[in-house]
Amino acid sequence: MAKLTVNDLNVRGRRVFVRVDYNVPMEEKEGLMVITDVTRIKETRPTLDLLVQKGAKIILAAHLGRPQGRRDPAMSLRPVATRLPDLIHRPVAFVDDCLGEKVEKTVGALKEGDILLLENLRYYEEEEANEPTFAEQLARLADLYVNDAFGAAHRAHASTEGVPRVIARRAGQCAAGLLMERELKFLGEELEKPARPFVVILGGAKVSEKIKVIDRLLEKADTILVGGAMAYTFHLARGRKIGRSLVEADKTEVALAAEAKAQKRGVKFLLPIDHVVATRVDIGKRNKQGQPLLELQNPRVIPQVDIPDDAAGFDIGPETARVYADVLRGGQTILWNGPMGMFEDPRFAAGTNTVAQAVVEATEKNGAKSIIGGGDSVKALNLAGLGQRVTFMSTGGGASLEFLQGAVLPGVAALSDK
Ligand code: ADP
Ligand code: MG
Repeated sequence: MAKLTVNDLNVRGRRVFVRVDYNVPMEEKEGLMVITDVTRIKETRPTLDLLVQKGAKIILAAHLGRPQGRRDPAMSLRPVATRLPDLIHRPVAFVDDCLGEKVEKTVGALKEGDILLLENLRYYEEEEANEPTFAEQLARLADLYVNDAFGAAHRAHASTEGVPRVIARRAGQCAAGLLMERELKFLGEELEKPARPFVVILGGAKVSEKIKVIDRLLEKADTILVGGAMAYTFHLARGRKIGRSLVEADKTEVALAAEAKAQKRGVKFLLPIDHVVATRVDIGKRNKQGQPLLELQNPRVIPQVDIPDDAAGFDIGPETARVYADVLRGGQTILWNGPMGMFEDPRFAAGTNTVAQAVVEATEKNGAKSIIGGGDSVKALNLAGLGQRVTFMSTGGGASLEFLQGAVLPGVAALSDK
């Protein structure tokens, strides 16, 4: 069911509780917490601009880190409040709490177009516990509710589920922000009736983490391209040699069932036909737990499916990348979740980068819709400098994965239907 969006709301002169994702990475520099990546903050600007134009009184609420119900100054949102005005080109007020008298007074003094940022919601353990009285207290601050924090929508916390429930009970509207709206469109609607061919790229470390997504996409995709360490579990299930590659040996039944389903439904299911491998060598270094720190030596291409006993696979090989790129160039809808190899090490990034390049080509030359879900996949695309050249990159991380599995996210369910 389609949800109300911030476009549908009449907000003039009304107090709007806006849940945002300002859980940004920070580093301590000379005793101060400094934000190292402001992407998440910048991304809320369209929603905030719209709300200001429409004359809302804006109350921003967010969490930062895991303070577990304590007022940990290292997890204060104050540094965000300091940076926000530059990033959204508007003044922002801040209170060092998310409820109570001081907050209520500040909210009471807000004028149309004013923006107030509240302190970290997770300074109260009631937030994650979705404690009803806490949700009531937060909801008392506002008339309307907007959620623009897709990355937190898979959790039923007070700010994502409790507050909209209370506001809806008072007949107040609860709507998706513009960022949330895009997530629901690209990870949801666009994949319901995709333009064909629909090609899915699946990678990453574990079959077990992705099996529900695989299962659901087997009902929609024309072709599934498998890479990453996940591929070794499928190869092992087929009785191939995987050497010392990362594998989930107890998931071969699951892998075989997925392949059988693909065959039954006529979905092309491709596995790597060559690999980039390396040898793990104990160079005598130990980590803090006393375990050996292995060095990956002698990276090389193995031009066949079977991997020698002493080697481990860390990327798809060049021939696999070529085949996958060819398939992708013919795609009209492309969904990518999970890198093709251990891309964080440049020696094992070629497969991921070749695939990324093909996705961009399909997007720019054939008008394919390309949708990237998954935190590390997004990282890999940005690292390759191609992040701006795909149709959509999800901000959701774990929430995107759950949404792609077909799960109903509590933070989405809580929004008002159109
Ligand atoms: P996403 O966050 O996009 O959903 P995942 O978290 O599932 O992706 O997987 C990404 C991780 O998988 C990366 O850290 C990457 O290094 C790792 N990975 C991919 N291929 C391999 C491999 N062959 N061996 C070891 N790790 C791998
Ligand atoms: Mg990940």
